[in-house]
Amino acid sequence: HATKKRMADHLRRLEMMFTLTPQRMRIIVEAFKDTLELGLSKHGQVVPMIPTYVFGWPSGSETGNYLAVDLGGTNLRVCLVTLNGGGKFEITQAKYRLTEEQKQEDAGNMKTDETYSLGFTFSYPCSQDRIDHGTLIRWTKGFGAPNTEGHNVVEMFRSSLQKYSVPAEITALTCDTTGTLIASHYVNPNTKIACIFGTGCNAAYMEKVKDISKISHLGIGEDMEMAINCEWGAFDSFEHEHLPRTKYDIQIDETSNKPGEQAFEKLISGRYLGEILRLIICELIDEGVIFLGQNTYKIEIIYSFDTAFLSLMESDPTDELLMIIGIFTHFFALETTLAERQFFKALAKLVGRRAARLSACGIAAIVSKMGYLEEGCAVGADGSLYNKYPGFADRIHEGLIDIFGDKGRNVITYHAEDGSGIGSAIVAAMTKIRK
Ligand code: ADP
Repeated sequence: HATKKRMADHLRRLEMMFTLTPQRMRIIVEAFKDTLELGLSKHGQVVPMIPTYVFGWPSGSETGNYLAVDLGGTNLRVCLVTLNGGGKFEITQAKYRLTEEQKQEDAGNMKTDETYSLGFTFSYPCSQDRIDHGTLIRWTKGFGAPNTEGHNVVEMFRSSLQKYSVPAEITALTCDTTGTLIASHYVNPNTKIACIFGTGCNAAYMEKVKDISKISHLGIGEDMEMAINCEWGAFDSFEHEHLPRTKYDIQIDETSNKPGEQAFEKLISGRYLGEILRLIICELIDEGVIFLGQNTYKIEIIYSFDTAFLSLMESDPTDELLMIIGIFTHFFALETTLAERQFFKALAKLVGRRAARLSACGIAAIVSKMGYLEEGCAVGADGSLYNKYPGFADRIHEGLIDIFGDKGRNVITYHAEDGSGIGSAIVAAMTKIRK
């Protein structure tokens, strides 16, 4: 009985830590807006607001066959996309798992086949000053191929294609978030913003060129628009002034391989939510509140608690919480009481709900900055967290209403189209038309 009361006390304490009031959310939105504007005005800001050189929206009437090649962290995906116009398309794809050797291979050995204009999705940090050009700043996600950093990856890919006599021409280099924006708008022209909620988190939207003052020297037509890849996961990095971080968030940050960086992403994305819950559980183990007398070594392993477990826990429909019994016995060799399971379910809800409400703050910042609230807009969203976490989208919508009042209903998120396949192909098509 005493432990039950202690768990209730802890839950109250954690509720205070993880709950975001509407007022607090509005303050975050204002700071977020200022950060977005700063990134547009100056180079080298924390939120870099990267110009993508994708000019304007697709018309929806782009047609033809295109190749899209996506070099991700795990797979190389090659898609043949047929754009039929009228927002319709067909896609055929092949996926190849990359070997560790290929990730380290000397540049110049990448292989594909087929013809047509090709869109290359390359989601590693690149500096771009044209759509068909990108200099790799540094490899991430475990890649280490030599002779690539500091080089134009489009040119390298192009010469490999030539070497193997592949009759394909790379016309565009994009990242998956920008691709998602363009693909979603092709199918649903109300789309103004795209967001990714997966291992990481990011957003892209369409900006007026005259408001991207850091590139005003390029003399691009003032009346044009360009997609911006926000890289918003970096919001509030280093200074940590705006986001309410708990001691668990600070612990994750300090033990991560990049302390101080990606502060917003660390409160939101799939890579971290399970770990936040695990740290709370470990604290309660240390305090002797739960799992007394059991061997807890498995749950004490860092990053052992996958964010997918939060989804499963929250969606457990049984009174006995059988799914949660299964997770703890099967993966962590731990027995749980019903009171503990109810407590864990409530914890998952706190962590998941905070992530969704912070996501709403980011979306609200773009909506408010661009003046989309009155007429309303659609937000294409993708990633396992958005697609699979029960209630994630509903909680974003509730958050938007908390921020904007009833008008928050004018902003609707929906499951986006595939950015790195269809999106990349549409960007290739748009580029070809412009040429
Ligand atoms: P990526 O972002 O790497 O392209 P995903 O969009 O699939 O890929 O995101 C992977 C992340 O989503 C991982 O951090 C994983 O823990 C999390 N994830 C996977 N399945 C689920 C789920 N059912 N519910 C919540 N999160 C999940």
